[in-house]
Amino acid sequence: MDLYTEGDPIADTRAPDGPIETRWDRRRFEAKLVNPANRRKLTVIVVGTGLAGGSAAATLAEQGYHVKSYCYQDSPRRAHSIAAQGGINAAKNYRNDGDSVHRLFYDTVKGGDFRSRESNVHRLAEVSVNIIDQCVAQGVPFAREYGGLLDTRSFGGAQVQRTFYARGQTGQQLLLGAYQALERQIGLGNVEMNARHEMLELVVVDGRARGIVVRDLVTGEITTEMADAVVLASGGYGNVFYLSTNAKGCNVTASWRAHRKGAYFANPCYTQIHPTCIPVSGDHQSKLTLMSESLRNDGRVWVPKAKGDSRPAKDIPEDERDYYLERIYPSFGNLVPRDIASRAAKNVCDSGRGVGPSGLGVYLDFADAINRLGRKAIEAKYGNLFEMYERITGEDPYEVPMRIYPAVHYTMGGLWVDYDLQSTIPGLFVIGEANFSDHGANRLGASALMQGLADGYFVLPNTLANYLAGAGSFGKVDASHPEVVATRTAVEERIQKLLSINGDRTVDSFHRELGQIMWEHCGMERSDAGLRKAIDEIRELREQFWQRVRVPGDGEGLNQSLEKAGRVADFFELAELMCIDALHREESCGGHFRAEHQTPDGEAQRDDDRFAYVAAWEYAGDQPVLHKEDLQFEYVHPTQRSYK
Ligand SMILES: Cc1cc2nc3c(=O)[nH]c(=O)nc-3n(C[C@H](O)[C@H](O)[C@H](O)COP(=O)(O)OP(=O)(O)OC[C@H]3O[C@@H](n4cnc5c(N)ncnc54)[C@H](O)[C@@H]3O)c2cc1C
Repeated sequence: MDLYTEGDPIADTRAPDGPIETRWDRRRFEAKLVNPANRRKLTVIVVGTGLAGGSAAATLAEQGYHVKSYCYQDSPRRAHSIAAQGGINAAKNYRNDGDSVHRLFYDTVKGGDFRSRESNVHRLAEVSVNIIDQCVAQGVPFAREYGGLLDTRSFGGAQVQRTFYARGQTGQQLLLGAYQALERQIGLGNVEMNARHEMLELVVVDGRARGIVVRDLVTGEITTEMADAVVLASGGYGNVFYLSTNAKGCNVTASWRAHRKGAYFANPCYTQIHPTCIPVSGDHQSKLTLMSESLRNDGRVWVPKAKGDSRPAKDIPEDERDYYLERIYPSFGNLVPRDIASRAAKNVCDSGRGVGPSGLGVYLDFADAINRLGRKAIEAKYGNLFEMYERITGEDPYEVPMRIYPAVHYTMGGLWVDYDLQSTIPGLFVIGEANFSDHGANRLGASALMQGLADGYFVLPNTLANYLAGAGSFGKVDASHPEVVATRTAVEERIQKLLSINGDRTVDSFHRELGQIMWEHCGMERSDAGLRKAIDEIRELREQFWQRVRVPGDGEGLNQSLEKAGRVADFFELAELMCIDALHREESCGGHFRAEHQTPDGEAQRDDDRFAYVAAWEYAGDQPVLHKEDLQFEYVHPTQRSYK
């Protein structure tokens, strides 16, 4: 049996044409509106309270809709977005260093290796400037310069300084802003907040998303929640690799359940491997720690020139060090995009020049910056990151260089959405990291926060209205509808099945093994043979899982093994699709590097003639169906990406 079949092409019918600067304005003007009196009668479910979901729920409630908000944490403000460190991009050009909406647009299309939609990216760049104003008005304490203007710093893939930040806690501060806006609406009774509730299924009636099935994680109670539209803001799926920089709870269940119900999954193989993470130190670890990309503003990356040089860093003289990023990419130096920096680190380690006990590490050295700016200045910029590094490794990065290595960090793939952020299921909208929309094959640093907030504060509140304006004609559905009852029953049966296997292996042991397969064959470098092997291994392991997993306890109350089991079961199916997607894409682009497709000097070799499309996968059991959405480039013409 073939691994997949090919279906009809798919088009983004909502994407406007005409001059790119006018498209978003036109779409907003052409979209239908809902008058304020009618908004009160409409209910919107928002799954997720990170930057995307929190900002969307607050804004929709502010507009007058009735919002039901869900997250699995004990508080909406504990969403994974709180972990974001380095910053958020915006084309404000406060530095007067040549930035503009067009340049942010250009950098993002190029940074994504020409695999994103021009219309979406331009809108993102336009809206970026409003985000900063919105957050400042909320009181987000962005770093400021002496004169009072907001400070900015550099992030990879750009030669301007457009990244706004709040020390190394930008996500936390932005999330507090969104959370306060959300709390205000909770207080006003416009948002019904359901923390510690996990969405386990999407309810689809007559082809439209009409609700979700959720489990109360404390009492175990399963309920069906109905609405006029459903928004998924459930984050990324990097934890399919087991070890990643994501929070432990991040998972794919909300998206995957929607996928099984008809929402296409786009570009699942595009995974971002972040170059600056604390290296793996043994089998005991359950998560990896990011050292923010902002550190590459001042830190210099190097390895010894000689293979196997095991002298301490301080004993290696300058002329025996290889500052390989500065050497290979003189224009961008240490600030090349993440995919490029990660591969370069892998290459120097593969050549035997890696540092640290495992040899899988490179130095990130601040000695020059400390000499130039003084320790105090470095402390002010990165103090909390240095402290975190020292706590984890026991080494003081003011005295010895940090050791870093690439790790799974972000997923560019996600549910397919049109320009309105609507999936292939009418009434199901997807925002933030959970969708695939703006970053192509590689996301630039500090652009995820920008996209999450653009979607939640500015885009969705306009485009959702266009859908809800027709809500009167598709009527209300209640929880007694046979389709709804069947959906809920299926959820209960799945839980019972997981509890009844009573095998001899823990959920974690399966998850860890799945992660190893994925990292080995669908990680930083992929090959035809490796991906085929991975698909066989994943199928075999998935079968084992359903025969041998042991989920202690019952479903009547808090049971974290049960929660994990459901998530890992979905990761298995996703992992297989990721490998099929990676196998079918016979080119290298951004975070997808195929060993067979590289330039003579080892850079990613795209094949625009065959692969300039979004791969949107339809669920069909073991043989998914591929629908291609052709990408058009009218403004930024595809070239071999160069940062030299
Ligand atoms: C360590 C780290 C640092 C980062 N730093 C930066 C940075 O400096 N700049 C930048 O731009 N990006 C950064 N990123 C990326 C960025 O943080 C994320 O992409 C972004 O925060 C995702 O936001 P989100 O709202 O889409 O999802 P999340 O913040 O992941 O929120 C997901 C929400 O969905 C809920 N949820 C999920 N599934 C379910 C379910 N089944 N039922 C109910 N609720 C559910 C969760 O409870 C949560 O509330 C960083 C990422 C990491 C890991």
